[in-house]
Amino acid sequence: MININKVWKEAKEDLSSKMLAISFECWIEKLEPLCITNSQLVLVAPNEGAKKCVLKNYKDYITSSVSKVNKTLTGAIIIIESEKDEYLNNAIVDEPKEEKKEEFDDGFTAFTKKYTFDNFIVGKSNEFAQAAGFAVANDPGNQYNPLFIYGGVGLGKTHLMHAIGNYIKKTKPYLKVRYITSETFVNEFVESIKHTSKNDTMREFREKYRSVDVLMIDDIQFIAGKPGFQEGIFHTFNDLYQNNKQIILTSDRPPKEISPLEERLRTRFEWGLIADIQPPDLETRIAILAKKAEQQNKNYSLDLLTFIAEKVDSNIREMEGLLSKVIFYSDLIKKDATIAIAEEALRDYIDTKKETITAWDIINATCSYFNITTTDITGKKKNKNIVIPRQIAIYLITDLINLPLVSIGELFGGKDHTTIIYARDKISDLIKTDPKIKLQVNDIKDMIYKR
Ligand code: ADP
Ligand code: MG
Repeated sequence: MININKVWKEAKEDLSSKMLAISFECWIEKLEPLCITNSQLVLVAPNEGAKKCVLKNYKDYITSSVSKVNKTLTGAIIIIESEKDEYLNNAIVDEPKEEKKEEFDDGFTAFTKKYTFDNFIVGKSNEFAQAAGFAVANDPGNQYNPLFIYGGVGLGKTHLMHAIGNYIKKTKPYLKVRYITSETFVNEFVESIKHTSKNDTMREFREKYRSVDVLMIDDIQFIAGKPGFQEGIFHTFNDLYQNNKQIILTSDRPPKEISPLEERLRTRFEWGLIADIQPPDLETRIAILAKKAEQQNKNYSLDLLTFIAEKVDSNIREMEGLLSKVIFYSDLIKKDATIAIAEEALRDYIDTKKETITAWDIINATCSYFNITTTDITGKKKNKNIVIPRQIAIYLITDLINLPLVSIGELFGGKDHTTIIYARDKISDLIKTDPKIKLQVNDIKDMIYKR
């Protein structure tokens, strides 16, 4: 029997990647699945107006997504509350079942099949992290422990973790591998503390996790500022580490920048190997798109792939979303995807790609504004006419571009990340109290953007 809630949930996921977020929220989110009749999913709209709008604008989209997630379904019928009975009579009604969490089999993780090493494109931006991941997958517990992978959103951290998991399951099926996001970890912990004492919870957690051979915690940055939970992780970490069990962590930033974080945890995170993933260059982005298109049996021209890859400058998930839109649209109108078709499919997409400014653009603009040299601004001089411009440049870099604090420190002659934070916060405070500084900062911004 078809689980209508599941079908609708998956169809919605598919739809959300193809529609504007606002339309999705206004129209699709408000539909409720009712039943299946004549191989069609019946959806209830909140009122007549909503029904009309959905029928007029989104019916094709819904039909396509519904039949994609469940091949036995041919489409959807949109009704309103008062029409319910009519449809329920000859329908297959499905009891909403408690959905089994797909994340686990036998208490351990079932990894996403498509996230493998084979499907992971290696370029300059991620080769180090990939190589480290592969080494760990080949010899868990004995290579780099812990392996700490960090990088921005949508750059492949979760993909890599699953690739390691899939690989170990294939080559060493007897090992127990567990993947968990730190958010789930925190929630489980909080839930457990409600029912037993903190000590019991702590004991339970140690029991539960110490039996694994490989523990992966995704997005560990969420434990910042959660002291009770950090203690839980600390003990689990020690139990595993002492028994040569592999620990793999990911985060959107390096351990140094997770704050507040207990020092004893931070040092442990740094014990093994820290590998970063940077935003991919155009060539790598094109290769990734080609792979994703191939997985969907699409053979797209290099021109078309380049057109899509140029629209996004870092987030690969977002880039994949654009590819899905193009595939969906060309399937819908039954025409081969060309650049013209892609332009149409993506016409609603607002180019989020920022004007590409670099840290050096900011440093150079600041120097020419204050009439000082780059050697001075990145050097160690302590006089006020250098220090303020230096702090302003640092502030602007943190404000305008996404660069890890440690990398900014390196640009300024190897300064500690705490110095960078100090400079950033100082200028950000001064802007609020000192009109002169505010004006200077704005003038330099104008110079950078050549307004
Ligand atoms: P993160 O966890 O870093 O936010 P994900 O691992 O979820 O990012 O990746 C986002 C999407 O981008 C996924 O669909 C993933 O398959 C894809 N992706 C990221 N990097 C690569 C790569 N090097 N090769 C192929 N696909 C990639
Ligand atoms: Mg992730």
